[in-house]
Amino acid sequence: MRLSQFHLATVKEVPADAEIVSHQLMLRAGMIRKLAAGLYTWSPLGLRVLRKVEAIVREEMNRAGAIEVLMPAVQPKELWEETGRWEKFGGQLLKIKDRKDAWYCFGPTHEEVVTDFARSELHSYKQLPVNFFQIQTKFRDEIRPRFGVMRAREFLMKDAYSFHLSAECLEREYWNMYNAYSRIFTRLELKFRAVQADAGAIGGNVTHEFHVLAESGEDAIAFSDGSDYAANVEKAEALAPETARPAAAAALERVDTPTQRSIDDVSAFLGLAPAQCLKTILVRGNDGLVALCVRGDHEINEIKAAKLAELPGQSVLAEEADIVKALGCKPGFIGPVNLPADIPVIVDRSAAVLADFVCGGNADGTHFRGANWERDARITRVEDLRKVVEGDASPDGQGRIRLARGIEVGHVFQLGTKYAESLNATVIAQDGKNQVMTMGCYGIGVSRIVAAAIEQNFDAAGIIWPEPMAPWRVVLCLINPKNDAAVSAAAESLYAELQARGIEVALDDRGLRPGGMFADMELIGIPHRVVVSERGVAAGTFEYRARRDSESRQLSREEVLALFA
Ligand code: ATP
Ligand code: MG
Ligand code: MG
Ligand code: MG
Repeated sequence: MRLSQFHLATVKEVPADAEIVSHQLMLRAGMIRKLAAGLYTWSPLGLRVLRKVEAIVREEMNRAGAIEVLMPAVQPKELWEETGRWEKFGGQLLKIKDRKDAWYCFGPTHEEVVTDFARSELHSYKQLPVNFFQIQTKFRDEIRPRFGVMRAREFLMKDAYSFHLSAECLEREYWNMYNAYSRIFTRLELKFRAVQADAGAIGGNVTHEFHVLAESGEDAIAFSDGSDYAANVEKAEALAPETARPAAAAALERVDTPTQRSIDDVSAFLGLAPAQCLKTILVRGNDGLVALCVRGDHEINEIKAAKLAELPGQSVLAEEADIVKALGCKPGFIGPVNLPADIPVIVDRSAAVLADFVCGGNADGTHFRGANWERDARITRVEDLRKVVEGDASPDGQGRIRLARGIEVGHVFQLGTKYAESLNATVIAQDGKNQVMTMGCYGIGVSRIVAAAIEQNFDAAGIIWPEPMAPWRVVLCLINPKNDAAVSAAAESLYAELQARGIEVALDDRGLRPGGMFADMELIGIPHRVVVSERGVAAGTFEYRARRDSESRQLSREEVLALFA
């Protein structure tokens, strides 16, 4: 590419609203331009990088045996009603209406559409297993779009969905995808970690996130320094008593044989849907009552209060003031309306001793520690009970917990039959009977990866692209081309030779002064720079510098070409 014929648009100022380095550098390099909150145009330069990432993702998905499709970005309401997500998905779902007053959404994800495709395309077990993937624009109306394309509203995702007859078959494909993801991030030369994760709104059981490690990451991850154990902090905090911080564990009485209530028990007890009980917290009032607070609206609270009143020996729900006094917590902290939005805690009561509680995560077998609130009135925040800190014992008993910040760039789920069941996606199995398919889903934030890579690879001068995602591998900087025919000829000849060898090369023939030209090439992060100047041509050499080097070297034409052999 001749840069005189390209559209480069670097800028000097750091935009005021760009908080993190990748956002600043992407704007300064002219890779993206903001159209509106969370909406960006990819410039020719930015697009070259995005396409590199996309190509590697596509190659590895193909290599792993997934088959590419392209589904509509706009999806009909009726389909989302079949899974109940038209209502449940919440504010991130952008709902749009056509001229006939029919409702659609701009797809934030494609489980509904792919399952609809599968139910009409797949009839027999002989067609399974199969894994469909696409690279497609998604829209999520994020509450706080920020950090440029890192948390955009419109973004590019690779999403894949696999269909199986059995859980074992799904598990095989899950690890196949897990390995493909590991290859993708390895090929992109990123420092990453796969961590166990909580299933969240998409549903399903076994799930891992892939995080690019970076200080600016929005997520905290916990990993062991003595084993392969790694989890995101939400998951780590919902773990068994062994993860308790030593100090907290000593202060809190451990319940060795806890009476645990299953979510179904709590659900039956409260008369609420199991999903609502996942957000339940049980606290003890100052008069010996047990109060169950359910996060959510007042209606739910009233149901709960009524139910509590029916319990023998427990007449009314404790007042917030009572709870505050009993727990020594700040007013406003405890209470259904004021609980943190996503508190994934149920606190289960041991029937025998009112003072002893078992606090649990919201999945089976993840109860994590005993709390005696009679004595531990100084526990003022529910989070403190669950906090995971550096130096905790790793839950697998090997090593200590270390914490790091991460950017979620990929996510794999074993979904099971959730979507196939609600959309009735069945095939004829070997025994001739209809069977609901078992599913997995696998997402990668293609556009987010571009920003995440910068968070790991930059210096004061700008971006330092890992070679596999650089817009060009090498730039030839032409000094004073108009004045010296020999310099132009040497540059043109090297440019032609590199192109003939299939090396992606940019020729900076814009006629800029060396300072400005070098600053641009450093800012946009080209891994290799070769300067073609009058002095060099006279001496038969080129000045070469790798983006990460601090010194230049004089190389012969052969030596330059050998760099890219
Ligand atoms: P996050 O926790 O960052 O909101 P998510 O868990 O909601 O992400 P998934 O539903 O797992 O996202 O989607 C798969 C991938 O899509 C994520 O791992 C991430 O890389 C990417 N992604 C999700 N939301 C955004 C966004 N708003 N902007 C850019 N990429 C995104
Ligand atoms: Mg999200
Ligand atoms: Mg997430
Ligand atoms: Mg996710």
